[in-house]
Amino acid sequence: MSTSNKPLFISFEGIDGCGKSTQVKILLERLDQAGIDSTLVREPGGTHISEEIREVLLTNRDDTMADRTETLLMTASRAQLTHDIIIPSQEKGKFVIADRFADSTLAYQGGGRGLNLDWLIKLNEFATFGVRPDLTFFIDVTAVVGARRRSTVHPDRLENVGHDFQEKVRNQYLKLVKLFPDRFITLDGMESPDVIHTRIWSEINKRMNKNEK
Ligand code: ADP
Repeated sequence: MSTSNKPLFISFEGIDGCGKSTQVKILLERLDQAGIDSTLVREPGGTHISEEIREVLLTNRDDTMADRTETLLMTASRAQLTHDIIIPSQEKGKFVIADRFADSTLAYQGGGRGLNLDWLIKLNEFATFGVRPDLTFFIDVTAVVGARRRSTVHPDRLENVGHDFQEKVRNQYLKLVKLFPDRFITLDGMESPDVIHTRIWSEINKRMNKNEK
């Protein structure tokens, strides 16, 4: 495979427990084997400032965080990550692999919390300096499967949300797939990790070949 292609920005999305981290790990190994230099980013976090914002976001406390505060903190963390890591990595010609990115705001704060989607899309554009993934893999599982798979020993503030919330988030992802068909690929999260990875690798190769032309 040629490594002279335009580097791709690839994001992974889906509810907690759908298998994002598992696929990101497999993909990073595959890219490494193919001699492709990549940077991994994980939201919320990834820079000192973003990690501090992550702490504020995930801490369980007595007072309730307003939905708009949550949204602005998420997007503030994303702005720092985009500025400090994503844009410089792209400038160096590296692939960027994101375990969650801007679509998580549309799904969680839009679908889950019920905030207006148009505002969130605009806010994301501002926070990401207009940088968008070339390819977004949505790994689809039901809320029941997601809950069964993820660890529930010490859930953080955002994992502490209920089943109905997770279903709303999932439904919003299904809407986003239709809204952004050029970059979204839906994967059946009930398939084995190997089968899911094979599909991911094939889609990435298609995009790389397209970029070569
Ligand atoms: P996420 O990053 O989306 O929260 P993880 O990748 O951490 O999800 O996976 C959550 C759990 O589900 C882990 O225990 C993982 O081993 C398991 N898992 C991941 N992918 C699959 C799959 N395709 N089928 C069955 N179990 C899976």
